[in-house]
Amino acid sequence: EAPLLALHNLKVQFKTDDGLVRAVDGVDLSVNRAETVCVVGESGCGKTVTAMTILKLIAMPPGRIAAGEIRFEGRDLVPLPPAEMQKIRSKEIGFVFQEPMTSLNPVYTVGQQIAETVRQHEGLSRRAGLDRAAEMLRLVNIPNPGRRVNDYPHQFSGGMRQRVMIAMALSCNPKLLIADEPTTALDVTIQAQILDLLNEMKQRLGMAVLLITHAMGVVAEVAQRVVVMYAGRVVEEAPVEALFADPRHPYTQGLIRSIPRIDLAATTHRRLEAIPGTVPSLLNPPAGCRFAARCRHAMPECLGTDPPLREVTPGHKVACLLYPEVRA
Ligand code: SF4
Repeated sequence: EAPLLALHNLKVQFKTDDGLVRAVDGVDLSVNRAETVCVVGESGCGKTVTAMTILKLIAMPPGRIAAGEIRFEGRDLVPLPPAEMQKIRSKEIGFVFQEPMTSLNPVYTVGQQIAETVRQHEGLSRRAGLDRAAEMLRLVNIPNPGRRVNDYPHQFSGGMRQRVMIAMALSCNPKLLIADEPTTALDVTIQAQILDLLNEMKQRLGMAVLLITHAMGVVAEVAQRVVVMYAGRVVEEAPVEALFADPRHPYTQGLIRSIPRIDLAATTHRRLEAIPGTVPSLLNPPAGCRFAARCRHAMPECLGTDPPLREVTPGHKVACLLYPEVRA
């Protein structure tokens, strides 16, 4: 079966005073029906721009889709006019971002906001819209949903606001939910609750999830497949078990080593092994492998050859010259 979402060679660029920033530079990525895919990488790797571009929510200009396709159920979203795209957002592809306060309108009750989303797409009456809103709040485990639909966003805690956002994103029963760092602004206990909620909703509603995160711990908990991005590119892709058991790209290996190990930290005070160095500028990305300046395995040829993403075992792809499949 064809994937639900498939990006082919996606390139997104931003015009800045300093020049052209190639934020996403030839990304291939797919999400199957009812699958959870995590996109992971440090800030500046292009993961958020990728998510915003799928929804066509990047500001154009200064942003521009310079090349590639975004196929959703086989249809390319790149050429779609804004009105068509508006229909796809929410109804077909729901989304949740990091800071719910910026996505919720402070002057309307959460019930009005959820009802409005549903009404736009399903033509429900005002009353039916509000009933649906209460039903959605109940679904995401907000206590007293019938009363809380009348509350304003500021009357909810951070974690509860994120639940409201998830309720809103799910209210039209989308086939795909894109969640960009949905738990980053929350404290650890609440983070776990929100991840559990996402998992539960996914099981119940059967939608696919594309989760963007910088946290490998989150990846381990929710992903079925993982896409690792670095400097605007995909450097590794694998089923979650394979990625943790046998990470191939030196960058992925570094990300996994930097996961806090509570058991170890408690006994030996072992420090987290962060990856030294920073993501290169995407204004003038270096020739050759973009990770070379930070890679402990770098070889002279890494500076001249830009490694393509190649399959090394079934379903496991990597872009690194240490592997003969990539050099071929
Ligand atoms: Fe390191 Fe070379 Fe592999 Fe890049 S291609 S990750 S520099 S070994």
